[in-house]
Amino acid sequence: MLVVMQEGASEAQIQGVIDRLVSLNFTVHRSTGVLHTVLGGVGPADSFDPADFEALDGVKECHRIVSAYKLASRHFKPGGTIVKVKGVEIGGKNVVVMAGPCSVENQDQINRAADIVAEAGATVIRGGAFKPRSSPYSFQGLGEEGLKMMREAADRNGLLVISEVMDQTQIPLMAAYTDILQIGARNMQNFNLLKVLAKLRMPVLLKRGIAATVEELLLSAEYVMAGGNYEVILCERGIRTFETYTRNTMDVSAIPVVKKLSHLPIVADPSHGTGRRDLVLPMARASVAAGADGLLLEVHHDPDHALSDGAQTLRPEQFSELMQQSRIIASAVGRTL
Ligand code: PEP
Ligand code: MN
Repeated sequence: MLVVMQEGASEAQIQGVIDRLVSLNFTVHRSTGVLHTVLGGVGPADSFDPADFEALDGVKECHRIVSAYKLASRHFKPGGTIVKVKGVEIGGKNVVVMAGPCSVENQDQINRAADIVAEAGATVIRGGAFKPRSSPYSFQGLGEEGLKMMREAADRNGLLVISEVMDQTQIPLMAAYTDILQIGARNMQNFNLLKVLAKLRMPVLLKRGIAATVEELLLSAEYVMAGGNYEVILCERGIRTFETYTRNTMDVSAIPVVKKLSHLPIVADPSHGTGRRDLVLPMARASVAAGADGLLLEVHHDPDHALSDGAQTLRPEQFSELMQQSRIIASAVGRTL
């Protein structure tokens, strides 16, 4: 349930409601908005009457939340969430670009990638050190060595680092070298991993599962938030459909759907969303037009020799073209990029 406090409600009034919720065995999640404080109570669904809460001092209104996800619901934070990472805001007016190779391959490759993406205006470098590959014989990533290389390349260019964590045992290592933890599509419903991420106080980018509905994506976000980690960024990366021309079907409509249902920022990944580099630019434009808060893109100095996902990886000049065109779209929809 959600209790919306009146504008200017005092701390004592807010605490009074929190105490009441706790006494009824609710776990309380607080969202302090510009105008209203919202208290989310997760607990016994039917054993309360919203009218009892509306009678408490300082309460504006109380609602029973019918959706399965509550903390991820737009009602919990009507103004939207901005995830702040070392001065970079994801979910604000600016569309944040996270770009780099699918995998970190060696120091020279990741240095070049960092130079290319920083020069064109990206603020975050991406690159996998632990790779979820369909075949056990494909390149599996460089592990810690790759993370070190990426951190060095990022720091030389003032970039943040995002990289995928596949397993909870990798978290301490990942936390030492990265700024945002990416949870891959294959792990969106790894509930044990999500419960561990919930205990961190570090931003998590949660990719939509290959065959996941938007509701399932929001429920996975709820797992992370239920443990008190509210720094969740969602990512549309295409879903599997009967279409075979593209690697996945980029569900651009999921962007406004998520915006309507949730307060969390959503980023678009047209690289995995299409699997073809000629489609990445138009789908990036479409994503920005649809309201994406960021773009996650694969870029390599020589994609034809990339160790993974070369076919969907942009060449440097294609990336700068994408940045220029996406800026025009961003300004047309009242954003910057
Ligand atoms: C990736 O970002 O390189 C990746 C493996 O993505 P996904 O989990 O969306 O397949
Ligand atoms: Mn990839």
